[in-house]
Amino acid sequence: MSARLALRCPRGDETSSTTPLAVPVPDAIRCEHCGDQHELHPERVNAAGGLEGCAACGHPELYTQKDFPRSVGIVIVVVAAVLAPFTYYISLGVAALIDALLFHFAPNVVLCYVCRSEHRGFAATPRHPRFDREIEERLKFGTRAVMGKPMRPGGTAGAPEPEH
Ligand SMILES: [Zn+2]
Ligand SMILES: [Zn+2]
Repeated sequence: MSARLALRCPRGDETSSTTPLAVPVPDAIRCEHCGDQHELHPERVNAAGGLEGCAACGHPELYTQKDFPRSVGIVIVVVAAVLAPFTYYISLGVAALIDALLFHFAPNVVLCYVCRSEHRGFAATPRHPRFDREIEERLKFGTRAVMGKPMRPGGTAGAPEPEH
């Protein structure tokens, strides 16, 4: 799978406003959302095609999650619930199984804590752990963060999974 970046416009909201980009990432791009030039950070992609940081804004902290739309899971559960009385509730077990399988085989997407740009299909190393609310907290509230965690050198590249 070839690598792709979905740039999230800093002026946009969380759900829309992405500009799709192929790799290699250019130095700047005209944003499909606001029409401005946004500077990008292609140097964050290393020679092996892995991410040292966000290719959009350059921030060194990223998190990995399954690229699996929650809405699909919800539809499966609703259909199973409707069918349950007619299938002696076997449909619920089947739905759980389908859900688990889809989740297991779903590809990963790597997101930036700061700009939420989405990185797909990049090399698996360095690996960025799953979402850590202590990192999110520090970035949001800075020194006022109650349970913020200081940034490790090099950001999240190759960091251990959060223990909570
Ligand atoms: Zn923009
Ligand atoms: Zn970013």
